[in-house]
Amino acid sequence: MMQDLTLDELIAGHAAGNLPEPISLAVATHLALSASHRREFRTFEAAGGAMLEKLEPVSMREGCLSRLLDALDDDDVEDLCAYSGRDPRLPAPLAAYVPGRLEELRWRSYGTASEAELPLRSPGFRTALIRVKAGRSVPQHTHDGHELTVVLDGGFTDASGHYVRGDLVLADHAVDHRPVADDDQDCLCLAVTDAPLRLTGTFGRLLNPLLRF
Ligand code: ZN
Repeated sequence: MMQDLTLDELIAGHAAGNLPEPISLAVATHLALSASHRREFRTFEAAGGAMLEKLEPVSMREGCLSRLLDALDDDDVEDLCAYSGRDPRLPAPLAAYVPGRLEELRWRSYGTASEAELPLRSPGFRTALIRVKAGRSVPQHTHDGHELTVVLDGGFTDASGHYVRGDLVLADHAVDHRPVADDDQDCLCLAVTDAPLRLTGTFGRLLNPLLRF
């Protein structure tokens, strides 16, 4: 469904407005929490605007592009980081998909972790909030497709590194990992997948038939 994409390509795709909704939500959530990538996003947007001006010189009103670039230069971090007022862990793009309080979502518990699917109607994708208890792990698994994880609160570690709030982590069939939440607090993430996870640990292999996508 998705080709093997880099984070840069995802951000460029988001700027161009041609990503599926769940992927766009993950990128927007990441951008809302990450100042350095927000700058990169603006560069891509500006490049897109410049390209548009070249392609459609007549339809672009005079000064339109410069006003757009001015607007992008404004450091309206307030706006990008505007919180819903309900839960400071959810940046604005994500809060739009969580109508009530986090606790009011339908959480399904898997022991050390729990999951609440978000109401996106995008066939082929699964979009969920994942909560992993402090110091505990998600079962070892690999991915038949792609997995985009954005850390919203706390942090986790796997073989590829340590990730904290705002980080976007890409994983695919080449990654076999066992994310472990930081010891000091629960880890809350947004996770988007386009195919089932496949458990690879000793006990996980026995459980695979029980997991439904
Ligand atoms: Zn994974």
